[in-house]
Amino acid sequence: MNTRRVFLQKITASAFALPFMPDFNFENVNLSSDAPYDGPVLRVAIMGLGSYGSRVAEAMLTSTMAKLTGVISGTPSKIKEWQTKYNIPEKNCYNYENFDDIKNNKDIDAVYVITPNALHHDQVIRVAKAGKHVICEKPMAINATEGQEMVDACKKANVKLLVGYRMHFEPKTLEIVRMRKAGELGKILFFQGLCGFKIGDPTQWRLNKALAGGGAMMDIGIYAINGSRYMIGEEPIWVTAEETKTDPIKFKEGVDETIMFQLGFPSGAVASCLSTYNMNNLDRFFLNGEKGFAEMQPSTGYGPIKARTNIGELTHPHVTHQTVQMDEMAAIILQGKQPMVPVDGEEGVRDLKIIDAIFAAAKTGKKVELK
Ligand code: NAD
Repeated sequence: MNTRRVFLQKITASAFALPFMPDFNFENVNLSSDAPYDGPVLRVAIMGLGSYGSRVAEAMLTSTMAKLTGVISGTPSKIKEWQTKYNIPEKNCYNYENFDDIKNNKDIDAVYVITPNALHHDQVIRVAKAGKHVICEKPMAINATEGQEMVDACKKANVKLLVGYRMHFEPKTLEIVRMRKAGELGKILFFQGLCGFKIGDPTQWRLNKALAGGGAMMDIGIYAINGSRYMIGEEPIWVTAEETKTDPIKFKEGVDETIMFQLGFPSGAVASCLSTYNMNNLDRFFLNGEKGFAEMQPSTGYGPIKARTNIGELTHPHVTHQTVQMDEMAAIILQGKQPMVPVDGEEGVRDLKIIDAIFAAAKTGKKVELK
């Protein structure tokens, strides 16, 4: 039910919503109204109807400001299935050969690219050239040079580029960021990010360098990198890294299994992180400051996220990450809203520069300075 009441329930359900919506004015809202939401809606086509694409589509059913109106897939049977499930007309269905024609489609404002990592670069640039806004899954590309080319292409085409960093809209995460920004944790000294899972099927694209651009680091280690930046609130100036591999058959050359890495920040804060495809139950953030701490476990899974600080447990209600993400991204694209933690293409490039440096540090065993 797409009513104003549902919208309000969603945004008022958690205490995080108010500081997070600076231009939201309660005085203009009739709280008892059941009138349908009649504000702007971002009409989205999903490219790549795989496991995460399916999750996003399902979650978007309860978004207020974003609606699934199109699909792009190489598999006609999946397109048929999605057409029936989401009521998508034939004219909004494309394949990987003809999706440039989306430029003539007035029912689609943005394309959400949810395909294997190495395909993002060319697909995002084609979408930009078709004049549509782009949301791209993480990692936005397989290196910083490609990421920057995507940012440049979107700027040139005058379309927005956002990266699917769903944790940037997660209530407990945002409360910790707020506490850190307000000085409630004092000077930040240390962050720990542990991110990993034991990967299965050795034939999947995630273990193919040509499609994945790497291994665990591109897929899951990126959460620790990204997390260290939004938790500490600075950009790292150096990295060191060490790689270990227990199964060189499954994890071939260029596909990292486990990397431990350290980041140094201008204030003197340091981060110590682990990225792995070889351990389960590894989803933990710890932030330490002179006046307090924050601890999250699970920290980046689909939730519920659990978090506590030196003053107690965070009790913000669980939200479906992708539902909130799509509403917030619609507001960024349609209304120019500024999120508390950025999700633009430049944010994605920053992570990729760090990944490039981590790979170089792991290879040479040397500390790598970041500009
Ligand atoms: P998936 O394998 O389930 O789906 C990938 C889709 O891409 C499939 O539908 C596949 O048919 C299609 N595809 C198109 N061209 C392909 C090709 N040449 N080779 C293989 N598949 C091709 O993968 P996924 O888990 O949905 O991941 C897709 C993207 O989403 C990745 O970039 C991943 O990092 C990202 N992801 C993000 C999150 C998150 O929480 N933000 C979670 C999972 C995945």
